[in-house]
Amino acid sequence: MAVEPEVTHWLPVHPSMLPGESLSSWLVRTAHANGLKVETFCHHLFGLQRPVWNRDIDRLGPEWLIATMAKVTPMTVEQIRRGTLALYEGKLFKQIRHSGINPGILPLLTYHRRYRGHGIQYCPLCLQQDERPYFRLAWRIAYYTFCPHHMVMLRDECHVCGAGVAFHRIEQGRPERRDVETLAECWNCGADLRQAPIEPITPWIRGSFERWRKLLLNIENGFHNGGAVDYYAFALVRQLCRIMLGNRRLPSFYFYICQRTGQPPWPRERFSPHVLEMNSIAVRHHLIAMAWWLLGRGKSKLAHALAIGELHRSQLTRDLRYSPVEPPRRVRYLLEGSQK
Ligand SMILES: [Zn+2]
Ligand SMILES: [Zn+2]
Repeated sequence: MAVEPEVTHWLPVHPSMLPGESLSSWLVRTAHANGLKVETFCHHLFGLQRPVWNRDIDRLGPEWLIATMAKVTPMTVEQIRRGTLALYEGKLFKQIRHSGINPGILPLLTYHRRYRGHGIQYCPLCLQQDERPYFRLAWRIAYYTFCPHHMVMLRDECHVCGAGVAFHRIEQGRPERRDVETLAECWNCGADLRQAPIEPITPWIRGSFERWRKLLLNIENGFHNGGAVDYYAFALVRQLCRIMLGNRRLPSFYFYICQRTGQPPWPRERFSPHVLEMNSIAVRHHLIAMAWWLLGRGKSKLAHALAIGELHRSQLTRDLRYSPVEPPRRVRYLLEGSQK
């Protein structure tokens, strides 16, 4: 019996995943490359019973979606999975959580195919340089507040209308739209996201920013050939930010860090209480930079904050059990302190 060659099942046009591209970005580009609207494309491939856009596919990486895409394109299941946030399991967090806040991942807060959150960030200069603008998986990470290539702040909304990024909706509800030239277009008002204002970052302490930049490059590479990475540092940074955010009011620890680093304190209204991932890019950048400062140079600044009681071990270790890795010895010593 003649076996039908696999290749006949392939889509007429099947763009490869670009370096660091997210599954959702690639899926949308593939639909458009085949001259189809994203909704039509997804209905054809996955059926009406399996809606794609009411969930965060980059975070959840549905097996049925990945398996189908591996059948209709030359990409393997393994290659496609690298477009999902599972890539960072065991590194930035233990395991992908299917609901609630996932440490380190910006939530999309999906609601009827709309995103209520601003969970997709972008660098206008990276998009400008792309031959085919596409969205990077790493831009979904909460620690990724600036572009390590261009040293500019990322953005998470349209500079004209303020809508969050949702490239799967560019042609939605517009029957006349057949072709989409670029994903760097605001779905709501059509503005070109590549023209968004550029805001260079100020690395106010060179060593800490350089360490942070290198880690961002590592995240972008999926920690591939990145050398030894201190994954525990991410857990510490996240916990320090959480402590700085406080609960109903900003804690004295926040003001202590501002004072030590010479950074002017920000008004309470700019912060969302809760966790790092629910805060704006600007707030995350402000807090993460100060957390890296505290972790700089042999942990002595951290030790000092503990010694003078600005920071308590119990606060620091409260959520560190969620860290995917054990603390390095020098940090364990600090965390255990007199309990040792
Ligand atoms: Zn960039
Ligand atoms: Zn817009």
